[in-house]
Amino acid sequence: MTWDTIAKTRAERGFAALSDPDEARQAFHWDQAAEMLDGLPGGGLNIAYEALDRHVLHGDGDRLALRWFGKDGSSLDYSYADLTRATARFANVLRDHGLERGDRLYSLMGRKPELYIAALGTLKAGLVFSPLFSAFGPEPIRTRMEIGEANAVVTTESIYRRKIAQWRDAIPSLKLVFLTDTDNAPEGCIALGPALAAASEDFEVAPTAPEDMALIHFTSGTTGRPKGAVHVHQAVYAHAATGRFALNLRPGAIYWCTADPGWVTGTSYGIISPLVNGVTLLVDEAEFDLDRWYGLLQREKVEIWYTAPTAIRMMMRAGKDAAKPYDFSQLRFLASVGEPLNPEAVVWGKQVFGHPFHDNWWQTETGGIMIANLAAMDIKPGSMGKPLPGIIAAVLDTDATPIRECRPGQVGELALRPGWPSMMRTYLHEQARYNKTFRDGWYLSGDLAMQDADGYFWFVGRADDLIKSSGHLIGPFEVESALIEHPAVAEAGVIGLPDETAGEVVKAYVSLNPGYEPSEELERDIRGHARKKLGPAVAPREVVFRNTLPKTRSGKIMRRLLKARELGLPEGDISTLETDES
Ligand code: ATP
Ligand code: MG
Repeated sequence: MTWDTIAKTRAERGFAALSDPDEARQAFHWDQAAEMLDGLPGGGLNIAYEALDRHVLHGDGDRLALRWFGKDGSSLDYSYADLTRATARFANVLRDHGLERGDRLYSLMGRKPELYIAALGTLKAGLVFSPLFSAFGPEPIRTRMEIGEANAVVTTESIYRRKIAQWRDAIPSLKLVFLTDTDNAPEGCIALGPALAAASEDFEVAPTAPEDMALIHFTSGTTGRPKGAVHVHQAVYAHAATGRFALNLRPGAIYWCTADPGWVTGTSYGIISPLVNGVTLLVDEAEFDLDRWYGLLQREKVEIWYTAPTAIRMMMRAGKDAAKPYDFSQLRFLASVGEPLNPEAVVWGKQVFGHPFHDNWWQTETGGIMIANLAAMDIKPGSMGKPLPGIIAAVLDTDATPIRECRPGQVGELALRPGWPSMMRTYLHEQARYNKTFRDGWYLSGDLAMQDADGYFWFVGRADDLIKSSGHLIGPFEVESALIEHPAVAEAGVIGLPDETAGEVVKAYVSLNPGYEPSEELERDIRGHARKKLGPAVAPREVVFRNTLPKTRSGKIMRRLLKARELGLPEGDISTLETDES
């Protein structure tokens, strides 16, 4: 399919152009929303309204919106009407406790239904929602709540006692603590369950304006101190359209996104985009477990599945035979985000699930998918795909003044023309850091990439992770992908180390597949394999074995940590570190 046809299809279906609010206004219910909201001048726009109430208004209230699976094997179903009512109750509770439009509510809990109700109820009430990982320690929670000037938090009693109580008084703005799992809240806290039960199901959706702050998302902290990216209600255009383009979301489809709402994917595509698109959203409270995941895909007849390279590599590590007993015939679209997806993994998806994984690229800052292997395109394994309709992306030579576009095949910084609706509006309290991301009319992503002659984008590495060796520029991703093609290698992290003659040399950290043991011979064999694939200048000089690599909670390998340790430098901000190296 060519871009012309995509544009035509878009026009025929009345899809919202990602960067054109006027066109988007026609495709959305901006005006109906405005009517519902008492005909505010200029119209109101509210993410929660688009995600829930709108479907009820259109007679789809009985459709299953959320099917939740508890760790203990229990499950709960919510229709669109159920969620509309539950979020109205939540919004009423916030109002009853004096919270007002623009106040900030944080969530700090596992993937329980209350988290989803809180997210959308908060937006419905016109408050700003900021989700945090429940596994964060007390300090990372406190810092993020300080940055975001939290007014309220929804959490569990045990998390509160262990991670909040000790510093709560140090954040005067934090007035309210709602606890989801108790009817007898400790002093200074409110039991959410009874409050919800007592609240009314009627709530007039807050008349938020398109530019009102809606979400604060903290970046993954892979390259340094996490930033608080601010998103507005208008982002919902992008959530809706990108979900349709890049994930093929359609009303009634059974969709599973494995990301935790503690980071942006789990909110944009784990809550908002699917519900705005009218799908049935599956949520699993448990973490990755091979048989549980395969069982869920089969039993629930999942059609569309959005997951991440780190999970795919875990499945690959378990081998194809582990998937054999399962029937995945209902699956029709698989997508991946978060880290570069090794070509090996794309092909593996096809072999095991009958469909390849569609890689797509975006960031906390972009709020939604920007570059993707769309369903209608030929996938080039290892490529991130092409920009979505309405998105202008380029690879830039940022050393030039003014900066200029690179030739096909030349590596440069991946950049976007600003203006799409889900673009961050600032980094909270870090205007200077935010301003630095723009130059000559471009938003600079901090990632390096190259574009081929067919217009596909290829990820090279983070600008910070680029290795310069004997005049070669080496992207860690290329080396890591070559390494995991070796049968023994499950996962690889690659860094550059200073070297007197070469400038830098490549060092690789690898974890092994079951059945392989670290040995000098294996090390030599892996280096030999890499040399053959990459050439001696690019192949790692040294390969070391690890059981696990250091990773963020969102599943990204923290190369900077490997490097800092190797060089004896300070480790920097490791608040998002989940698994350490071992
Ligand atoms: P920080 O900005 O705090 O260092 P982070 O960049 O890891 O953290 P996120 O916004 O969660 O925080 O991640 C976005 C980054 O993840 C992208 O800039 C890119 O480096 C990487 N990424 C996401 N998807 C892909 C993909 N499909 N291919 C390659 N890299 C990807
Ligand atoms: Mg980043």
